[in-house]
Amino acid sequence: MITGDIMDNAPCGYLVIDERGGVIQIDNTLKNWLKYSDEEKNAKGLSIYNFLTIGSKMYCETHFFPMLQFKGHVKEINLELLKKTGETQPLLVNANFHRNNNGIKEYVCILIDITHRKLYEKELLLAKQQSESHLKELQEINEGLSQFSHTVAHDLKSPLKNILGLLQLVDNNEIASSKEYLSIAYDQGQEMVEMIDELLAFASSGNKNQPFEPVLTNSMFESLNNKLEMLLQKEDVKLHCPKTNFTITGNLSELVRLFQNLVENAIKYKKWGISPEIHISITQTSDNIIFSVADNGLGIPTQYKKSIFNPFVRVHKDYTSIKGSGIGLATCKKIVSAHQGEIWVESEVDKGSTFFISLPL
Ligand code: ADP
Repeated sequence: MITGDIMDNAPCGYLVIDERGGVIQIDNTLKNWLKYSDEEKNAKGLSIYNFLTIGSKMYCETHFFPMLQFKGHVKEINLELLKKTGETQPLLVNANFHRNNNGIKEYVCILIDITHRKLYEKELLLAKQQSESHLKELQEINEGLSQFSHTVAHDLKSPLKNILGLLQLVDNNEIASSKEYLSIAYDQGQEMVEMIDELLAFASSGNKNQPFEPVLTNSMFESLNNKLEMLLQKEDVKLHCPKTNFTITGNLSELVRLFQNLVENAIKYKKWGISPEIHISITQTSDNIIFSVADNGLGIPTQYKKSIFNPFVRVHKDYTSIKGSGIGLATCKKIVSAHQGEIWVESEVDKGSTFFISLPL
């Protein structure tokens, strides 16, 4: 047995127990950890089973004591102390078997508090999980980027090839027909410019550096109406915006761009001979604000409900008169994601589509 002030108040717990776990000696450090009252501290008949968690008790039965008996010592065993207050404290335990002066078996245990080490381990594990998930995200972004650049290069190359082909024809033919070729080449060039503009809009959308501020939905829809005024008149569109004013947090110009894309699509994919009618509405739940943009257009087959939000996916490719590059909805998705929201669509072919945007309050 070790006695004395220094040993009794060492920065680690010191415990001597008998073969069945009965406490022979316990130091002040361990008593203080256990938060025992003065009477309890001196109580006789204490056993280590009084101050271990259920898991640790089982571990003692199945491993700790059998190992001590077999090897005569154990090193760096993890046990959990159950304090009087119900709190737990992780411990690292080293123990040695010896016989006292009377030849009776005793186990001498040193207990080290590893609360901080466990917290540190937890933080390390969290940091590891975070870095793994960032790595996965980066890999996905990289894969997306390589797919994206491949499609961009392909889509930009095809009108350019047409232009070059047409120029060659002009070069080989008489002047009389070249005007027609030049006009086709001009249209192709125009298509390329539009596509590059859309790509630039896609690249700049959802940028994390864009400032967020309180946005009044009424002023957002006013800007939208101003931007679309000419198109709405030209296409004879009825656009119904919500009257109730809500305040959301976001980037005004990005949010206007989001609704502009959706409304322009609702007009672009209208049914032949039917004037587009678009209803925008807002509902509020306990956590979110949900916008819906409903049209009476061509509708979207169910199998495209998810993929249309990926770049370059076009459902109505056969309608050659409807121009597009398939980047509009991908841009919408990027904007919504930057606002920590979600976007989805419900649709029925030939009846119309409703796009939903849910933003956190
Ligand atoms: P695009 O430049 O082709 O319009 P988008 O990314 O904006 O690209 O849309 C992707 C595809 O989703 C479109 O090509 C179209 O087939 C379909 N789509 C989008 N909005 C609507 C809508 N309101 N009604 C029907 N189809 C739509």
